[in-house]
Formats: sequence, C-alpha cells, structure tokens
Amino acid sequence: MLDTTIVGSLPKPEWLAEPEKLWASWRLQGEELRRAQQRAAAEWLEHQEKAGIDIVTDGEQFRIHFVHGFLEHIQGIDWEKKTAMGIRDNRYTVQVPTVTGPVSRPRPVHLDEVRFTRDQTDRRLKFTLPGPMTICDTIADAYYLRRSDMAMAFAEILNHEARELAAAGVDVIQFDEPAFNVFFDDVRQWGIAALERAIEGLTCTTAVHICYGYGIEENLRWKKNLGNEWRQYEEIFPALNASRIDQVSVECAESRVPLSLLGLLKDKDVMVGAVAVTPDRVEAPEEVAATVRAAMQYVDAQRLYPCTNCGMTPIPYGIALGKLNSLAAGAAIVRNSL
Ligand SMILES: [Zn+2]
Repeated sequence: MLDTTIVGSLPKPEWLAEPEKLWASWRLQGEELRRAQQRAAAEWLEHQEKAGIDIVTDGEQFRIHFVHGFLEHIQGIDWEKKTAMGIRDNRYTVQVPTVTGPVSRPRPVHLDEVRFTRDQTDRRLKFTLPGPMTICDTIADAYYLRRSDMAMAFAEILNHEARELAAAGVDVIQFDEPAFNVFFDDVRQWGIAALERAIEGLTCTTAVHICYGYGIEENLRWKKNLGNEWRQYEEIFPALNASRIDQVSVECAESRVPLSLLGLLKDKDVMVGAVAVTPDRVEAPEEVAATVRAAMQYVDAQRLYPCTNCGMTPIPYGIALGKLNSLAAGAAIVRNSL
C-alpha cells in the first residue's frame, strides 16, 4: 500500500552528459558511451533501492530526450528536413524533423537497455515511452496529413515495442503524454484511442503520465497564465477513467491542480506527484506526507502511488537524490500511521 515510484527520468551524472540541461549531448561515444550509460543507470537503481522506492526505473540514462530517444530508431523520418513547429499549442517554437514516409520500427529500440536494467534489480521495474499524441506534437508531418492517422501509426509501433519490453520483464509500461493537457478535444476524439492502441494486448501494468512540464522558463511562463486553479484535467479525466489504462499520474506538489479532480479517476490507480521538479529545494518528508494525506481524501490508499511530479532530468543530481529519499520517507510516515 502507498508503494512509491517516480515518473521516469533522473539527472545524468556529470561524466555522462552536461548536467542541469535538457538536450545535453553525451560526453562519450560508442562502446564507452554504452558502458557509461549502464553504470549511470546501475547507480540510480541502487540509489532508488536504498531510498526505498518500490517501483524503479533506469532514470532514462540511455536517452538524451524522452521523445527523440525513441524516434531516432524509427524509419520514415527525415532528420535533415527541419520544420518550424509551435509545440504544445505554440508554447515554444522548435525546428523539428519531418515524417516523410510510412513510419516503421526495423528492430527493437530499448530492449538491450531493459535487459540490462532487469538484471540489476529485483524490484518492480517501470519503463517509459513517449505517447503517440506527444510524438505527433514533437515532429512535423508531410506524409499522413491527419495528425490522428500519424498517431495511430506510431501507436502500432509503440505497441510492438511495449510488448517486447514487457516480455523482457518490465512490470509497468508508462506512456508520457504531456500533450494531453493542451489539446483536450483531440484527446477525447483520438488521443485516448491512440493510447489504447499502444497498450493493446499488454498484460503488464500500464500507465500514462500527463503533466504541466519540466520547470523550464517557457513552462513557468505558461503556468502563470493558467489561473489560480488548474482545472484543465477536468476536461479529460472522465474519458481517461473510462479508458483501459491502469494508472494516471498527476502533479500534486506545489501545483494548483485542485485535488478534488482526483475524484474523477475513481477506477484508476493514481500516481500522486508529491515532490516538485524544482532545482533548489528538497521537500521535507513531512511535506510529502501532507500531500499524500491530502490526496487520500479522494483516492484510497490501495490505489495511491506517491510519485514525483515529472521527470527530474534538468535538476541537480544531489537535489534529485534528496527528493527520492524524502519521497520514500514521506510515504513511509503515512503508511506507518494507517
Ligand atoms: Zn512530466
């Protein structure tokens, strides 16, 4: 009960990539790089176990970016043909690669990483993949023409990947869908259908991470304009609750999401974000416990998984380590009091 987990990513050690930076490039290459990634993942697994995190991840130490780490291995994408795109409904503009033909996955993308990680730990293992809608909001389309068609094509590829990872011993497959709190009509019309296509036939636990993004400047500016209460999830939680996904993550630490909205997910496990992805402060365990208790007004303890708000990639290594410890300690305080 109150098993702890993290959204997925953790900071890279400074010998692997430049710290506190999104899109930081690797410091090594080839076989040296592969061994360094393995060492970084093994260290984070040990940190998570020592802290007392119940469902652990590789900290995404094998990829630079949560979407492109997957897309780099997909055919049908022209990486030289850059298109300017206003990502997340024009929150920021980026030059993105372009889909120019039918997408396909010639071979498994993350299987070697999963096999390595599975060997390192006896804990339940989570693996994260980008969600189909978020992929389509991170890459330009010059082939499918309708975003929903491209999303379905990616969902099929993701499903093959997810099945292979589950067969290799992953206990929880999580799809990251930050685009889900931007395009509400699309989420209801095809976003959830694409997500369900991606999890089709999976017998492991399935999860979706939706969020208000990393604590980068563009996101912080956007969050200021969202009003005193972030009620955006009210638009999609009923549809998510009716979907086949098992778990939904919600950022609850230092956020303005009214916790009463968690009541709309009464048939789901809820990953309650109880530490924020802030670079300068580690929450005290009592603070984590208070967030978990507040969420328990709307989610029974059996369905509640204390978690991080979002990926911790851009924050200092030591701060992320402190947050892991506080998260587990805070959950233990509540568990012991029940
Ligand atoms: Zn996130």
